[in-house]
Amino acid sequence: SYGVEESEDIEGEKKAATRVTYNIVFVSAEAAPYSKTGGLGDVCGSLPIALAKHGHRVMVITPRYQNGTAADKKFAGAVDVDCRIKIPCFEGVQEVSFFHEYREGVDWVFVDHPSYHRPGNPYGDSNGAFGDNQFRFTLLCYAACEAPLVLPLGGYTYGENSLFLVNDWHAGLVPVLLASKYRPYGVYKDARSILVIHNLAHQGVEPAATYKNFGLPPQWYGALGWVFPTWARTHALDTGEAVNVLKGAIVTADRLLTVSKGYSWEITTVEGGYGLQDLLSSRKSVLDGITNGIDVTEWNPSADEHLTCHYSADDLSGKVQCKIDLQKELGLSIQPDCPLIGFIGRLDYQKGIDLIQAAIPELMEDDVQFVMLGSGDPQYENWMRAAETTYKDKFRGWVGFNVPISHRITAGCDILLMPSRFEPCGLNQLYAMRYGTIPVVHATGGLRDTVETFNPYAQGGSGEGTGYVIVPKLLAWMVFLGHGSKLFPPNIVVECTVRWTFSPLEKESMLGALRTAVMTYRQHRSSWEGLMRRCMEKDYTWENAATQYEQIFEWAFLDPP
Ligand code: ADP
Repeated sequence: SYGVEESEDIEGEKKAATRVTYNIVFVSAEAAPYSKTGGLGDVCGSLPIALAKHGHRVMVITPRYQNGTAADKKFAGAVDVDCRIKIPCFEGVQEVSFFHEYREGVDWVFVDHPSYHRPGNPYGDSNGAFGDNQFRFTLLCYAACEAPLVLPLGGYTYGENSLFLVNDWHAGLVPVLLASKYRPYGVYKDARSILVIHNLAHQGVEPAATYKNFGLPPQWYGALGWVFPTWARTHALDTGEAVNVLKGAIVTADRLLTVSKGYSWEITTVEGGYGLQDLLSSRKSVLDGITNGIDVTEWNPSADEHLTCHYSADDLSGKVQCKIDLQKELGLSIQPDCPLIGFIGRLDYQKGIDLIQAAIPELMEDDVQFVMLGSGDPQYENWMRAAETTYKDKFRGWVGFNVPISHRITAGCDILLMPSRFEPCGLNQLYAMRYGTIPVVHATGGLRDTVETFNPYAQGGSGEGTGYVIVPKLLAWMVFLGHGSKLFPPNIVVECTVRWTFSPLEKESMLGALRTAVMTYRQHRSSWEGLMRRCMEKDYTWENAATQYEQIFEWAFLDPP
């Protein structure tokens, strides 16, 4: 009976420890609309608002970038709160100040320092990454740890019981600082931290000598210490010793989270772990994945401010006008019936641009048009420019980062291609589906989680996706070659098609998937419309994800730090 009582006590304590609302501090290198280069900015611009709507007190802390362009105006609503702190790091003392804007129920806090004032994006410019990023993000982390203690936002501070949501390596020093510089002195004893991994490929690795710049106690070296594999060392005497900020965060954060379930598993494998797989596996009991939502107000085909024509699942007629507008704007030949394929994203090896590059000569022999929007690796940027000349009115490669154009491509295209090598979550496929644009994706990470596999056999033809199945690839070709409708009643082909995924990642399977989609677009127009509607009717709101985040928060506070 003693045991029973004890377990009841534990249950009681757990319940007492369970909080209904939290003081949440997001720490991120980017937050839309203030700054954005990819999904990280989108998530840190939307999820805080969704959580604030659930009654939590939410702060987002991010740098106040000033790059001398119109983008600076995005920070215009934030006022200097007249609070300066001194940060001991990089063998000196740096002073930072804080700006604040209260918008949509969230405290947006911007850390100000001269190193955030320069042309380019948050991480670099046309010459590549800034050489002092480690310094810039160290400042962010120190400032983020101080902000809940010193900023009387709306009259009172967030306080010591805050919950830090630490996003990617740029914010990775936060849990390390909590553990090494605050808790030993009794501060933040009841705070918790959750590391959210948006992309494991970037870890903030520096030579070991950088350690002293962090201003951390020497005995904490082991948390960040890292050894490069032999093949990555530059010469025979190179010991490969380095510091890895993300590793430090993985070791010290109370919980770990990725932006899809699939990715939370992939990062524990040799292929997806980037050398951290064993460490991540050892923390599996606190590792979860929650699929991102999207901002359904910004991305709304029936009221998108970047479109002149609108449409919805109930009335799809406006979509073809969006396509014509896009063809006009980009100088493609005006052909409302020609399948228009799009790609939007960073021009990075991760995104499989080399595959598109390899497939384009063959694809351009088909009666299709292709449009790409992206910036990044100069080699791909130059190829896109050259391909415009080669394929004249069939191919457009828009080099740059342009949000309005990204909306118009999402609306105007029939198909969105995402041949990513790995994809922690991926947002463009979600935007595409909301706009009735059919995603053709590599079955990886969040793409596999969110895009249902084309499987005409499933449920006797009722068309439920059941995860990735290799059969559709074979079937795809049979359908493409015209055998599908002979072998199966037309309604299987017509009604059950959901979307296409392809694997392994190679040019042939990508072309196969694309051509299957194009064939359905041309030959089964009513099924295509059914497909568009099914995509558009899915629930992509942050509401669902926010509720799952709350479960993780509850678990974070159950165990001691
Ligand atoms: P990642 O975070 O790896 O870059 P995601 O798919 O998660 O990829 O998010 C990419 C986000 O960045 C999307 O909102 C996408 O529309 C946007 N984006 C990427 N490249 C561009 C671009 N060249 N112009 C405008 N928006 C872009």
